[in-house]
Amino acid sequence: MLVKTIILFLALMVLVALIGRALFPTALPRVMQKRKAVPVCNKCGRHLIGTKSCDCGGKAR
Ligand SMILES: [Zn+2]
Repeated sequence: MLVKTIILFLALMVLVALIGRALFPTALPRVMQKRKAVPVCNKCGRHLIGTKSCDCGGKAR
């Protein structure tokens, strides 16, 4: 009986996680999201490698 309860609980957790991921894909922690390999300037769109700010004065997105 106890094992059945635990399995049911785990199944419920998985279900909640799946529904949550389907409804709120942006609510995931940053590590679980697909992140861009290189940050891009929000003004000119240039790739910013190794720096947080761009030559044009824009900042990395
Ligand atoms: Zn820029």
